[in-house]
Amino acid sequence: MKRIGLSACFFHPDPARPIFKGKRLLYMEQSMSQLCMRHGAMPLLLPKAEGRISVSDVVDSVDALLLQGGSDVAPESYGARPIEDGRWPGDRYRDLYEIELVQACLEAKKPILGICRGHQLLNVALGGSLYQDTETERKGARKHRDPDVYDRLYHELDIKPGSLLAEIYGVDGRVTINSIHHQAIDRLADSLQSEAESLPDGLIEAVRYTGDSFAYGVQWHPEFQRDEETHLLAPGPLFEYFLSQIT
Ligand code: MN
Repeated sequence: MKRIGLSACFFHPDPARPIFKGKRLLYMEQSMSQLCMRHGAMPLLLPKAEGRISVSDVVDSVDALLLQGGSDVAPESYGARPIEDGRWPGDRYRDLYEIELVQACLEAKKPILGICRGHQLLNVALGGSLYQDTETERKGARKHRDPDVYDRLYHELDIKPGSLLAEIYGVDGRVTINSIHHQAIDRLADSLQSEAESLPDGLIEAVRYTGDSFAYGVQWHPEFQRDEETHLLAPGPLFEYFLSQIT
Protein backbone atom coordinates (compact mmCIF):
# COMPACT_ATOMS: atom_id res chain seq x y z
CA MET A 1 0.00 0.00 0.00
CA LYS A 2 1.30 3.43 -0.92
CA ARG A 3 1.86 5.72 2.07
CA ILE A 4 1.19 9.39 1.46
CA GLY A 5 2.72 11.82 3.93
CA LEU A 6 0.41 14.77 4.53
CA SER A 7 2.00 17.99 5.65
CA ALA A 8 0.10 19.14 8.72
CA CYS A 9 -2.06 22.21 9.17
CA PHE A 10 -1.45 23.91 12.52
CA PHE A 11 -3.50 25.38 15.30
CA HIS A 12 -0.87 27.33 17.21
CA PRO A 13 -1.03 27.83 20.98
CA ASP A 14 -4.10 29.90 21.79
CA PRO A 15 -4.91 30.84 25.39
CA ALA A 16 -8.57 31.39 24.40
CA ARG A 17 -9.10 27.81 23.22
CA PRO A 18 -10.99 25.77 25.81
CA ILE A 19 -9.36 22.44 24.96
CA PHE A 20 -5.62 21.91 24.44
CA LYS A 21 -5.29 25.42 25.83
CA GLY A 22 -1.87 26.84 24.97
CA LYS A 23 -0.92 23.72 22.99
CA ARG A 24 -0.01 23.35 19.32
CA LEU A 25 -2.19 21.00 17.26
CA LEU A 26 -1.32 19.34 13.94
CA TYR A 27 -4.24 18.26 11.76
CA MET A 28 -5.39 17.01 8.37
CA GLU A 29 -8.51 18.13 6.57
CA GLN A 30 -10.74 15.10 6.10
CA SER A 31 -11.49 15.36 2.38
CA MET A 32 -7.72 15.25 1.78
CA SER A 33 -7.44 11.91 3.58
CA GLN A 34 -10.55 10.69 1.72
CA LEU A 35 -8.96 11.59 -1.61
CA CYS A 36 -5.95 9.39 -0.76
CA MET A 37 -8.08 6.47 0.41
CA ARG A 38 -10.37 6.64 -2.64
CA HIS A 39 -7.21 5.78 -4.61
CA GLY A 40 -6.10 3.05 -2.20
CA ALA A 41 -3.32 5.10 -0.63
CA MET A 42 -2.82 5.55 3.12
CA PRO A 43 -2.66 9.17 4.31
CA LEU A 44 -0.26 9.70 7.21
CA LEU A 45 0.10 12.98 9.01
CA LEU A 46 3.75 14.03 9.20
CA PRO A 47 5.03 15.46 12.48
CA LYS A 48 7.68 18.16 12.64
CA ALA A 49 11.02 16.39 13.01
CA GLU A 50 12.30 16.72 16.56
CA GLY A 51 14.46 14.94 19.11
CA ARG A 52 16.26 11.95 17.63
CA ILE A 53 14.12 11.99 14.46
CA SER A 54 15.42 14.01 11.52
CA VAL A 55 13.38 15.31 8.59
CA SER A 56 14.93 12.60 6.41
CA ASP A 57 13.67 9.99 8.90
CA VAL A 58 10.19 11.52 8.55
CA VAL A 59 10.40 11.41 4.74
CA ASP A 60 11.79 7.83 4.83
CA SER A 61 8.56 6.71 6.47
CA VAL A 62 6.39 7.61 3.44
CA ASP A 63 6.40 7.12 -0.36
CA ALA A 64 5.27 10.62 -1.36
CA LEU A 65 4.41 14.04 0.04
CA LEU A 66 1.05 15.79 -0.24
CA LEU A 67 1.10 19.43 0.86
CA GLN A 68 -2.26 20.47 2.29
CA GLY A 69 -3.93 23.82 1.83
CA GLY A 70 -4.63 26.27 4.64
CA SER A 71 -3.04 29.39 6.02
CA ASP A 72 -1.16 32.05 4.05
CA VAL A 73 2.59 31.82 3.51
CA ALA A 74 4.58 34.41 5.50
CA PRO A 75 6.21 37.17 3.42
CA GLU A 76 9.59 36.64 5.13
CA SER A 77 9.62 33.08 3.75
CA TYR A 78 10.26 34.59 0.30
CA GLY A 79 12.31 37.57 1.45
CA ALA A 80 9.50 40.14 1.26
CA ARG A 81 8.39 42.77 3.74
CA PRO A 82 4.74 42.75 4.80
CA ILE A 83 2.71 45.11 2.57
CA GLU A 84 0.46 45.98 5.49
CA ASP A 85 1.92 45.51 8.93
CA GLY A 86 0.35 42.55 10.66
CA ARG A 87 -2.57 42.16 8.26
CA TRP A 88 -1.31 39.11 6.31
CA PRO A 89 1.26 37.53 8.60
CA GLY A 90 0.94 33.97 7.24
CA ASP A 91 2.26 30.96 9.14
CA ARG A 92 6.05 31.15 9.27
CA TYR A 93 6.25 28.13 11.57
CA ARG A 94 4.41 25.96 9.06
CA ASP A 95 6.43 27.40 6.15
CA LEU A 96 9.71 26.28 7.75
CA TYR A 97 8.28 22.86 8.55
CA GLU A 98 7.04 22.36 4.98
CA ILE A 99 10.08 23.84 3.20
CA GLU A 100 12.22 21.33 5.10
CA LEU A 101 9.90 18.50 3.99
CA VAL A 102 10.00 19.65 0.34
CA GLN A 103 13.80 19.80 0.35
CA ALA A 104 14.11 16.35 1.94
CA CYS A 105 11.63 14.87 -0.56
CA LEU A 106 13.41 16.37 -3.56
CA GLU A 107 16.66 14.98 -2.24
CA ALA A 108 15.12 11.53 -1.73
CA LYS A 109 13.38 11.83 -5.15
CA LYS A 110 9.96 11.21 -3.65
CA PRO A 111 6.98 12.67 -5.52
CA ILE A 112 5.36 15.85 -4.22
CA LEU A 113 1.89 17.20 -4.90
CA GLY A 114 1.07 20.64 -3.54
CA ILE A 115 -2.53 21.79 -3.25
CA CYS A 116 -3.48 25.48 -2.97
CA ARG A 117 -1.15 26.73 -0.23
CA GLY A 118 0.98 23.67 -1.12
CA HIS A 119 1.29 24.94 -4.71
CA GLN A 120 2.40 28.35 -3.40
CA LEU A 121 4.73 26.79 -0.82
CA LEU A 122 6.43 24.72 -3.51
CA ASN A 123 7.13 27.93 -5.44
CA VAL A 124 8.51 29.60 -2.30
CA ALA A 125 10.62 26.56 -1.32
CA LEU A 126 12.23 26.72 -4.77
CA GLY A 127 12.94 30.46 -4.62
CA GLY A 128 9.81 32.09 -6.08
CA SER A 129 7.55 34.73 -4.53
CA LEU A 130 3.83 35.33 -3.92
CA TYR A 131 1.29 38.11 -3.95
CA GLN A 132 0.65 38.66 -0.23
CA ASP A 133 -2.87 39.83 -1.07
CA THR A 134 -3.87 39.09 -4.66
CA GLU A 135 -6.57 41.75 -4.72
CA THR A 136 -4.15 44.55 -3.73
CA GLU A 137 -1.11 43.45 -5.65
CA ARG A 138 -2.57 42.10 -8.85
CA LYS A 139 -4.89 44.80 -10.13
CA GLY A 140 -7.66 43.49 -12.35
CA ALA A 141 -7.54 39.95 -10.94
CA ARG A 142 -10.90 38.22 -10.86
CA LYS A 143 -12.32 36.94 -7.58
CA HIS A 144 -10.38 33.84 -6.45
CA ARG A 145 -11.95 33.46 -3.02
CA ASP A 146 -15.44 34.10 -1.73
CA PRO A 147 -16.13 33.15 1.89
CA ASP A 148 -19.88 32.94 1.25
CA VAL A 149 -19.82 30.31 -1.50
CA TYR A 150 -16.43 28.93 -0.45
CA ASP A 151 -15.67 25.79 -2.54
CA ARG A 152 -18.49 26.57 -4.95
CA LEU A 153 -16.61 29.47 -6.50
CA TYR A 154 -15.44 28.42 -9.95
CA HIS A 155 -13.45 29.94 -12.79
CA GLU A 156 -11.97 28.94 -16.08
CA LEU A 157 -8.46 27.62 -16.45
CA ASP A 158 -6.39 27.65 -19.61
CA ILE A 159 -4.30 24.48 -19.83
CA LYS A 160 -1.18 25.05 -21.93
CA PRO A 161 -0.75 22.82 -24.98
CA GLY A 162 2.16 20.44 -24.51
CA SER A 163 1.99 20.64 -20.71
CA LEU A 164 1.97 17.60 -18.48
CA LEU A 165 -1.52 18.61 -17.35
CA ALA A 166 -2.71 18.51 -20.98
CA GLU A 167 -1.16 15.05 -21.28
CA ILE A 168 -2.73 13.76 -18.05
CA TYR A 169 -6.22 14.92 -19.03
CA GLY A 170 -5.93 14.51 -22.79
CA VAL A 171 -7.23 18.05 -23.17
CA ASP A 172 -5.80 21.53 -23.53
CA GLY A 173 -7.43 24.92 -23.48
CA ARG A 174 -10.40 25.82 -21.29
CA VAL A 175 -11.61 23.79 -18.34
CA THR A 176 -13.26 24.85 -15.06
CA ILE A 177 -11.89 24.45 -11.54
CA ASN A 178 -12.80 25.67 -8.05
CA SER A 179 -10.99 28.60 -6.46
CA ILE A 180 -10.48 29.28 -2.75
CA HIS A 181 -7.22 31.19 -2.43
CA HIS A 182 -6.17 34.55 -1.08
CA GLN A 183 -2.57 34.48 -2.30
CA ALA A 184 -1.08 33.51 -5.66
CA ILE A 185 2.27 33.04 -7.39
CA ASP A 186 3.99 36.28 -8.36
CA ARG A 187 7.57 35.46 -9.44
CA LEU A 188 7.80 31.85 -10.59
CA ALA A 189 10.76 29.85 -9.27
CA ASP A 190 13.40 29.14 -11.95
CA SER A 191 12.95 25.39 -11.62
CA LEU A 192 9.15 25.53 -12.06
CA GLN A 193 7.18 25.78 -15.25
CA SER A 194 3.67 27.21 -15.52
CA GLU A 195 1.24 24.63 -16.87
CA ALA A 196 -2.08 26.43 -16.63
CA GLU A 197 -3.39 29.93 -15.93
CA SER A 198 -6.68 31.35 -14.74
CA LEU A 199 -8.93 33.12 -17.22
CA PRO A 200 -9.13 35.93 -17.91
CA ASP A 201 -6.51 37.27 -15.46
CA GLY A 202 -3.60 34.89 -16.11
CA LEU A 203 -2.63 33.82 -12.59
CA ILE A 204 -0.40 30.75 -12.51
CA GLU A 205 -2.64 27.91 -11.27
CA ALA A 206 -0.56 24.79 -12.03
CA VAL A 207 3.21 24.30 -11.88
CA ARG A 208 5.58 21.48 -12.71
CA TYR A 209 9.08 21.04 -11.34
CA THR A 210 11.64 20.74 -14.12
CA GLY A 211 14.31 19.01 -12.00
CA ASP A 212 14.95 15.29 -11.80
CA SER A 213 12.05 14.23 -9.59
CA PHE A 214 8.29 14.73 -9.66
CA ALA A 215 6.84 17.79 -7.96
CA TYR A 216 3.60 19.42 -9.02
CA GLY A 217 1.39 22.17 -7.67
CA VAL A 218 -2.24 23.06 -8.32
CA GLN A 219 -3.91 26.21 -7.05
CA TRP A 220 -7.38 24.64 -6.93
CA HIS A 221 -8.71 22.03 -4.46
CA PRO A 222 -9.28 18.66 -6.17
CA GLU A 223 -10.09 17.11 -2.77
CA PHE A 224 -13.11 19.41 -2.29
CA GLN A 225 -14.81 18.41 -5.54
CA ARG A 226 -18.14 16.68 -5.23
CA ASP A 227 -19.21 13.81 -7.47
CA GLU A 228 -21.99 15.94 -8.94
CA GLU A 229 -19.55 18.69 -9.96
CA THR A 230 -19.02 17.03 -13.31
CA HIS A 231 -18.33 20.37 -14.99
CA LEU A 232 -15.01 20.62 -13.12
CA LEU A 233 -11.67 19.06 -14.02
CA ALA A 234 -11.89 15.64 -12.33
CA PRO A 235 -9.48 15.03 -9.43
CA GLY A 236 -8.84 11.35 -10.30
CA PRO A 237 -6.41 11.54 -13.26
CA LEU A 238 -4.08 14.02 -11.52
CA PHE A 239 -4.02 12.01 -8.30
CA GLU A 240 -3.45 8.71 -10.15
CA TYR A 241 -0.56 10.32 -12.03
CA PHE A 242 0.94 11.51 -8.75
CA LEU A 243 0.71 7.98 -7.32
CA SER A 244 2.22 6.52 -10.51
CA GLN A 245 5.36 8.59 -9.89
CA ILE A 246 6.17 6.59 -6.76
CA THR A 247 9.05 4.25 -7.52
MN1 MN B 1 -8.09 30.69 -8.72
